[in-house]
Amino acid sequence: MDAYNNASFYNYNTIIYGHNMRDGSMFARLKEFSNEATLRQCPYFWILTPDADYLYKICSIHQASSGSDTFTVRFADYLKAEDVKFTVKGGNLAQVDQHPEIKALFEAADPTMTPASWALRYAASMEGVMIVLSGMSNLEQMRQNVKLMKDDFKPLTEADKEMLKQTAEIIESKQPVGCTGCRYCVEKGCPAGIRIPQVLKSLNMLHQYQNIHGARMGYYGAISEHRPAECIRCGSCERECPQSLPIRKLIREADDRLYAGPDYDVWANH
Ligand code: SF4
Ligand code: SF4
Repeated sequence: MDAYNNASFYNYNTIIYGHNMRDGSMFARLKEFSNEATLRQCPYFWILTPDADYLYKICSIHQASSGSDTFTVRFADYLKAEDVKFTVKGGNLAQVDQHPEIKALFEAADPTMTPASWALRYAASMEGVMIVLSGMSNLEQMRQNVKLMKDDFKPLTEADKEMLKQTAEIIESKQPVGCTGCRYCVEKGCPAGIRIPQVLKSLNMLHQYQNIHGARMGYYGAISEHRPAECIRCGSCERECPQSLPIRKLIREADDRLYAGPDYDVWANH
């Protein structure tokens, strides 16, 4: 797959490269689809990935030169119909004013705007965006969002954008764990079955957004089978980690801060 494509196949154009072997092996047989009879006989192909298998129906065949627009991942025309999802990052951005520095920036820019409103305005101010989707937990949030977009919407100014850039830098700087999610630590198998990357992601969420409920939701998902308390301290994960993270200490910290007992209901408490 092209490096600019998203692995979830949500780009408008997903480019997959394959060898066109002279001996007819590998992707060389794709050429046979230019024969209409072959295409009618077999109009489908599969893409198998570790997470899911996709079945596609071929609706057209085109032979492109190497410099063709076909190799464009995102088309400007399509961008006009872009949707923005996860606008408030699962509610995380609604909490960022818990950081005093961010609260001060928001208040200096416009004390009437809530953190969630800044997130919605940011998304809706982007060129080409037609739809902004935001999860809402109650009627009051829906009323606020509708009012913002219907009555109070103002595109961001350059000063607003600069302020939000500063808030983003503050959020990034609050990430205490430099885990890249590479999964090397679990590929050889943690003997205790702990989902280390997910545990560390929850810890980062807590530090970055101060969103204890959101972090707990992630954490309880990560520990559905095994908790960091089951770590036997073998150190295997730390030997594999390219970031040299003190994983044993970090997962203990995550458990100390996010575990709230076996009966804690993350949904009821969200
Ligand atoms: S030290 Fe703990 S978390 Fe790391 S691999 Fe061993 S049991 Fe798993
Ligand atoms: S190996 Fe290190 S950086 Fe990679 S997922 Fe595990 S903890 Fe994170």
